[in-house]
Amino acid sequence: MPDMTDLLLSGGRVIDPASGLDQTGDVLIRDGMVADISVSPITSDAPKLDCEGCIVSPGLLDIHVHFRDPDQAAAHEETIATGSAAAVAGGFTSVCCMPNTTPAIDSTEVVESIRSRGAAANLARVFPVACGTIGRAGETVAPILDLVESGAVAISDDGDGVADSGVMRQVLSLVAAADSVFMQHCQDPTLTRGAAMNAGPLAARLGLGGWPREAESLMLRRDLILNRSVGARYHAQHLSVAESVTTLREARAEGQAATGEASPHHLLLTEAACDGWNTMAKVNPPLRTDADVAAIKEGIAEGTITVLATDHAPHPAHAKQTDFASAAFGMVGLECALPLYREALIDDGVLDWPAMLAMMTSEPAAIAGLHHLGLGRLEVAGPADVTVIDPEAAWTIQADRFHSRGRNCPFEGRSARGRAIATLVAGRMMHQAAGPRADAAIEDAAVVR
Ligand SMILES: [Zn+2]
Repeated sequence: MPDMTDLLLSGGRVIDPASGLDQTGDVLIRDGMVADISVSPITSDAPKLDCEGCIVSPGLLDIHVHFRDPDQAAAHEETIATGSAAAVAGGFTSVCCMPNTTPAIDSTEVVESIRSRGAAANLARVFPVACGTIGRAGETVAPILDLVESGAVAISDDGDGVADSGVMRQVLSLVAAADSVFMQHCQDPTLTRGAAMNAGPLAARLGLGGWPREAESLMLRRDLILNRSVGARYHAQHLSVAESVTTLREARAEGQAATGEASPHHLLLTEAACDGWNTMAKVNPPLRTDADVAAIKEGIAEGTITVLATDHAPHPAHAKQTDFASAAFGMVGLECALPLYREALIDDGVLDWPAMLAMMTSEPAAIAGLHHLGLGRLEVAGPADVTVIDPEAAWTIQADRFHSRGRNCPFEGRSARGRAIATLVAGRMMHQAAGPRADAAIEDAAVVR
């Protein structure tokens, strides 16, 4: 465990989306807190990290990851420790773990065990998201008030949507009573039996079950109609189709506390990536079309979609090295999301750095209530969770160098630009890559322990 040390982050572009700060300056870290932020050089005897040419950002937050812990049966699966190492290597200082574990996160005991495993891993901050229904089975409402009380930062049955409308109304009511947020995986299961990829001519040609767009848009629309009279905070996960953006836009316009998130793969890939039965491109919800990618980008540009997550979903090799229909859904994301988002949103002129970082810091923090802990922002006397980003660092995505146990990455071999070169959690250096501006030659990003 690294000692808590003072550190002067000098001469970087300091961006704090929460306060609108975007200026070159120094940030002094002392005793795990931000001690000073100044546009003029700070005099200090603290060790100095030269951040010239780099962005000094609040630590990135990912409110949608899957660590396969607890699951005693699966020795090759991602654990909270390996997932946390992947998080800090990718620049993430806080992650929210989805509850589709074994057992599911549907009891206060499991919530507490996730929290303690996260603390023991001692890398990123790990926050559990607990189930809306027992065992995520969609039938019996979970003890939501107790789960929130014991530390669940949100409620979700992710991996499945809550299909039963009566159960969903009860879940939303309890989420509202707990002042928590429901994160919905929008998938009407009656429309996706045997489905493996986006429904359409390509699925037909490949002989694969088609996943209709309505499976997502129908559940989202139903939820937001139900929620009109309940008024819970509602968050739609990993949006994949244009109709969802329209529905979310309308609900926000009528004043609902509804938010939505995008994932890197739904911005950079389409169903075409599944051609040749490429199991690395199998994901839930599936990759869609160019028009959907454009609609999601439009939703981001106009502020309908306010969160960038990863849906980091690691799997052991054998789960992907099989026929497409049998292969597992999902792909890893934590260690490549930052440059992928840069490519999809900044290089494409959709957002600038401050706007993109807002979607990875202050916006997700507010949804999961983490702003109450001072997370997702950079302020004097706040916790020193900081990510130093070299926006121009050029590197190649190689899954075998990931800290994650998952190697299931559809972006293998892709040229990437932008990387976290230092990740600090409570002032402690949890990840450091070779120095600033180490173009092309960033050596293995070692986790400092
Ligand atoms: Zn999901």
